[in-house]
Amino acid sequence: MADRRPGDLREYRRRRNFRRTPEPAGRADPRHITCNSAEPRFVVQRHRATRLHYDLRLEINGVLVSWAVPKGPTLDPTVRRAAIHVEDHPLEYLDFEGVIPHGEYGGGDVIVWDTGTWRPHGTDDPAQAVVDGELHADFFGRKLRGRFVFVRRGTDEKSWLVLHKDDEHAVRGWNPEDYPRSVLSGATNDDVARHPRRLWRGGRAHPVAQHNDTAASADELAALAALDDEGTWEVFGRRLKVTHLNKVIYPGRGRTHALTKRDLLRYAARIAPVVMPYLAGRPFNMHRFPDGIDAPGFWHKQLPSHAPDWLPRWQNPSAKRGEAATYLVVDEPAALIWAVNFGAIEWHAWTSRTDRPDLPTWALVDIDPGSRTTWRELVELALLHRDALDHLGVQGKPKLTGQRGIQIWIPIRRGPTFDDTRAWVEHLSKVVGSLMPDAVSWEWEKKRRAGRARLDFTQNAANKTLVAPYSPRPLPRAPVSAPVEWDELPHLRPDRFTVRTILDRLAERGDPFHALLTVNQQLPPLG
Ligand code: MN
Repeated sequence: MADRRPGDLREYRRRRNFRRTPEPAGRADPRHITCNSAEPRFVVQRHRATRLHYDLRLEINGVLVSWAVPKGPTLDPTVRRAAIHVEDHPLEYLDFEGVIPHGEYGGGDVIVWDTGTWRPHGTDDPAQAVVDGELHADFFGRKLRGRFVFVRRGTDEKSWLVLHKDDEHAVRGWNPEDYPRSVLSGATNDDVARHPRRLWRGGRAHPVAQHNDTAASADELAALAALDDEGTWEVFGRRLKVTHLNKVIYPGRGRTHALTKRDLLRYAARIAPVVMPYLAGRPFNMHRFPDGIDAPGFWHKQLPSHAPDWLPRWQNPSAKRGEAATYLVVDEPAALIWAVNFGAIEWHAWTSRTDRPDLPTWALVDIDPGSRTTWRELVELALLHRDALDHLGVQGKPKLTGQRGIQIWIPIRRGPTFDDTRAWVEHLSKVVGSLMPDAVSWEWEKKRRAGRARLDFTQNAANKTLVAPYSPRPLPRAPVSAPVEWDELPHLRPDRFTVRTILDRLAERGDPFHALLTVNQQLPPLG
């Protein structure tokens, strides 16, 4: 008995009511989707439905070919797990986590337990291997590594086994239940079940336009508008005291209206579901401008003792005396609202997570213009970096700083230290800089750079941060730091998008960095 060939979402859609479930519907004809990452991806979701199981999904032919594994996959080569071949799921399911309502198909809570890339072994036609009932696959995930074998058991087309080969990644006695957290949000299934609205529910190409269920609701925004200069705002399932709502943070200039603290809280509530993946699980440094951008701002890292108990936080075990020891961790949108009310106009998350603060998940190129650097030169420097990354097969995308510069964000699988990523970016930037020697200075001191640009690799360090995607900047017109696509970069200006315009752009085009969130790549050796 043969299975159907992968690539058909009709059964997936027939089983679900998309007015009731937050799950993605998927595109009309998935077979026309070309793989947009260098290697096909996989996801394993821990799903507490009627019975706990793990859903193991492999990207094949524009869909996720899926098995439900009741006891979960294991690296233990002595164990064979029963797996039920279920309907193909849409690619948008790759980063879905959230709550499927009770009474709906698969009702329960879902986390992204692991994700990464995979490679078929011994065949170039994995779809046919599924039809034939035996697929060998090398996994490159955060938890699952090494070679897995999927094999159909005799008579019943839905009944399969999954096992791990006894290779160098095999671990006897390995139990998936020992690693209960989402690799995307850090949440457990309990966290998701308790706070269905507070968590980022991914999987959405256009999170703001089509998924108002995760941004603040119209009622919540109306409640903010109705408050006097201060009051209690119920948003994202929390009750927050908000203050000085009418205080002008961005003074009006010319035909541009002023923006008040109330306007910024509204912006934070609407952008929250888009920025959560860049903030969650990471220490958060606040750049505060409590008296508006015309007064001097200051850094605030230590979470104040008056902060409410529910705010997620992290104790830095290596904080020296006099350094911040307790950091805010923006694990839920309400924590961002709290920070903005506290005066944090500019948002800086670490590039590492609290569970391994020494291991970055992004490598960063910071192209810092000098007083004489033109926009054209800056774009040229960025595009030379892109060419170098392309040549190396490394994915990364540019971000306008909202001030004058351009950064390139390169997602990496955890492993290298900050010393490693700094050395790698230094090497890359030195090669690029040598191609435009007149435009670039390597002088440490600004006055010795003679107005030339600096390629600043030193930002790759613990507790050094670049401004987070979609953070406002403290400049007139309220620009935001905006991720962009490579091909639009030459036509833009570094402060092109603002607190007033970025939500429309997201509704139209989605978040360019969203595709980077599921990339699982290693930096190749240089030189
Ligand atoms: Mn399931």
